[in-house]
Amino acid sequence: MTMTAEQQKTAMRWLSERCGRDGRQMTCAACGRTGGRWDVDDKMVCLPLWSKGRMDITRALLAVVMTCGECGHMLLFGADNMGLV
Ligand SMILES: [Zn+2]
Repeated sequence: MTMTAEQQKTAMRWLSERCGRDGRQMTCAACGRTGGRWDVDDKMVCLPLWSKGRMDITRALLAVVMTCGECGHMLLFGADNMGLV
């Protein structure tokens, strides 16, 4: 699901407040680089939920993906916590 322009603006502001502009305060847990580039996709991902031994198709989690520009390690941030949904 592609974020609207308003959602993208809200997501970038939210991430900047917590991770620094462009993630520059972040250290990648995978490659250990600090101060590298982090990319934020303009699409949210939808994660299905597993309940009682099966996929619950009535519920899902939406998340924003932030990817380390050095190694591709991905971080997910809940869209509801970010105020996007
Ligand atoms: Zn990395």
